[in-house]
Amino acid sequence: MNLHEYQAKQLLAQYGVEVPGGQPCTTANEARSIAEKFFTEGHEMVVVKIQIHSGGRGKGIFKDGFKGGVHLCKSADDVYEKATSMLGNTIVTKQTGETGRQVNTLLVASAEKILSEFYLAVLLDRESSQPLIMASCEGGVDIEEVAETNPNAIIKLQVDPLLGLQPYQARNLAKALGLSGKMIQSAAKLITGIYKTWWECDASMVEINPLCVVENPDGTTKMAAVDAKISIDGNALYRHKNIAEMRDLNEEAELEVEASKYDLNYIKLDGNVACLVNGAGLAMATMDAIKHFGGDPANFLDVGGGATKEQVTAAFQIILKDPNVKAILVNIFGGIMNCNTIAEGVVAAAAETQLSLPLVVRLEGNNVDAGRKTLSESGITLITAASLADAAKKVVSEATV
Ligand code: GDP
Ligand code: MG
Repeated sequence: MNLHEYQAKQLLAQYGVEVPGGQPCTTANEARSIAEKFFTEGHEMVVVKIQIHSGGRGKGIFKDGFKGGVHLCKSADDVYEKATSMLGNTIVTKQTGETGRQVNTLLVASAEKILSEFYLAVLLDRESSQPLIMASCEGGVDIEEVAETNPNAIIKLQVDPLLGLQPYQARNLAKALGLSGKMIQSAAKLITGIYKTWWECDASMVEINPLCVVENPDGTTKMAAVDAKISIDGNALYRHKNIAEMRDLNEEAELEVEASKYDLNYIKLDGNVACLVNGAGLAMATMDAIKHFGGDPANFLDVGGGATKEQVTAAFQIILKDPNVKAILVNIFGGIMNCNTIAEGVVAAAAETQLSLPLVVRLEGNNVDAGRKTLSESGITLITAASLADAAKKVVSEATV
């Protein structure tokens, strides 16, 4: 589950990470009054930032031509004007795809006087099965580009998950980023707080870009997380009630939200061959087989090992709501799963949705005879397949007719 920047900063602050003061809002009037508060406190500048689950907001362009989702403003009127231009408007960034994202929330924060920008992320390194901290002096910009053009500019630090991040490691990292003097201690504290946030919140990723050296009004300097992105491992949400409440359904694909209501593992993809499978491994193999025979999967869908008829019906309805779908493949290997449950779900959903798309079914395993009987007696037109390869071949040819 992804968090908004303002939510990520709330979590980071709880772990002692310095973040600029700010408040989320949903109307231009609120934006103005939050800004007024900052100006009255003596801040010279305020930053207004759209809150969407996407990076590259600063360089994004709105559908009506308005440029940028991050604006520095010197007056409350300017904040009001920028907020009016952005709220309700749809922005396209490098990460949103061309459909873009509608902006419903803004973060109005005190703007920092940035002296230098760094990149810092904590994630799980699957190769070493250890937490990995990635950092770079080339902050503020597209890190993927840095990784490609100047990979040496990225510092990688592996952390022993049992020992946790050691203070000397945090200090060494700060030095490697070119920091010196008092700034090393300040950076080490920040890095430790960021790592702790990642670990204790069960995050799959925490990314701070930019992490900045900023100048205080009195001329002293400190380090602060100016931008923040956090993804939480969905499997751990049950033990983080406060974080689970931060979920913003507006930011998630509609069909995926619908699927999660039925405990279905569904991920929408761009192809036209829908698949309904039991078991994540078999679902992956099915997608590979579809690809192998020249097709493109429209989704990943694992109905799980013990799906009910209602879940199967819902799953079928969800895959049919994707307008790109041209053919459907049901691939079930019944171990715990009863093939007849799947068959009953398919029949119910086909009747409810007046299915007219080609349907290829491969059923094997537990109670398969009853399943086949249910299907054949239902009167639905379907194409049966003898093996996974046979099923994939048939469904791809149906989708490409
Ligand atoms: P992103 O484009 O989605 O990554 O959004 P960011 O929050 O990283 O903002 C983009 C850029 O705007 C940053 O790299 C900064 O250069 C600038 N920016 C953001 N917040 C501030 C701020 O408080 N003060 C100043 N001076 N610049 C900021
Ligand atoms: Mg950023």
